Amino acid sequence: MKQPLNVIKIGGAVIEDPEKQQAFLDGFVALKGPKILVHGGGRIATEIGERLGMEAIMVEGRRVTDDATVDLVTMVYGGLVNKQMTAKLQSLGVNAIGLTGADGSIIRSVKRPVTNGVDYGWVGDPVEVNADFLTKMIEAGGVPVIAPLTHDGAGHILNTNADTIAGTIALAMAEFFEVNLALTFELDGVLADVNDPESLINPFKESFFIEMKESGAIHSGMIPKLENSFKALHSGVKGVRICKYDQINSNHGSLLQI
Ligand code: ADP
Repeated sequence: MKQPLNVIKIGGAVIEDPEKQQAFLDGFVALKGPKILVHGGGRIATEIGERLGMEAIMVEGRRVTDDATVDLVTMVYGGLVNKQMTAKLQSLGVNAIGLTGADGSIIRSVKRPVTNGVDYGWVGDPVEVNADFLTKMIEAGGVPVIAPLTHDGAGHILNTNADTIAGTIALAMAEFFEVNLALTFELDGVLADVNDPESLINPFKESFFIEMKESGAIHSGMIPKLENSFKALHSGVKGVRICKYDQINSNHGSLLQI
């Protein structure tokens, strides 16, 4: 029988708010058994970029990554955010190991080709996960903490959506573990009306996703979140939940169903 593994993703807006981040970390620390943390960091990079006179360009919830931006996100996601998160987890007794997708070739990706006339720049779509290496770290008692950066095998860092990283890692690890994936963010889960916090949809069926994407009720960052989640569910991940950052240890949120 496969051992359980939790893959948890924390969104950028939660990391930015110290109280919310603490609430998330308390839940993450309390989570029993092997676990992997994947973090975002978008808004922090945007803010630091603005201080440096750079402007963020977003298309459908994804940042367009030019030469200066890939340097910025490498410093902010792979440096500041990743190492602060690792240090905090260490202070809470978790043997966190802060990594990017380039470290141990955890995730190799391909630079996204120009899509519908949009050049995303240094953005990567994952092609290969080093699940063996992640497994060895977990077996050694480590808790990988992964920044949303990958590499192309030719020396370039590629900016990669954190939900995509979490979904891809969950999928690859499902060969060796019984994987549960939780994508946590500021809201309660998938909402019928994004402006109505009472409109949580649970369980959330794949057919709803298709309908709500077409009607525009699901948009921006929620689209890659759900695309990756359903792909993971179709490929052997046991469960996927989209939930609030302080609900890792509950069953609140939207449990996805295919
Ligand atoms: P994070 O980086 O915090 O994980 P994203 O910004 O990538 O989150 O995606 C979450 C956002 O998706 C929400 O803040 C919300 O604005 C948006 N969204 C769009 N449609 C929905 C929906 N139907 N339910 C919940 N959130 C939605």
